[in-house]
Amino acid sequence: MYPQKTEKIDLNTEYPCPCRRRGRLKPIVLTEALGCDRCQQIFVVDESRYAIEQLSTYHPYKQVWRWTGHQWSRAHAGLRTMYLPLSLLVIAIPSIWLILVLHSDTANLLPWIIFLLLLVLLPAVLVWLAYRR
Ligand SMILES: [Zn+2]
Repeated sequence: MYPQKTEKIDLNTEYPCPCRRRGRLKPIVLTEALGCDRCQQIFVVDESRYAIEQLSTYHPYKQVWRWTGHQWSRAHAGLRTMYLPLSLLVIAIPSIWLILVLHSDTANLLPWIIFLLLLVLLPAVLVWLAYRR
């Protein structure tokens, strides 16, 4: 297998649809999106113009494809791009807290614990809300 190169998506060009119904993706006028003439799915072109994302309410994570020049290549960037900084945050915050605790008096600890618990819980709740559907 050769490494897959990705090409920029041209919004004025028709592409085959990533669905298996041999649909054609046609540009939707005045939008950054492409629509399939067979499966009626709408795909939004990424800001970088290198990927399309399926507009779907059925999937808990993003469905992303990249154009290799002759076919779509499935990319699983959706959840991962969000997941990595979040997991770093979840690891970093208790670490910072531990350092603070080790270097401060225990008397002022309670507000810090509450504050840090909120900092850890807030992203978790946001992710849960985002992927609940
Ligand atoms: Zn389609």
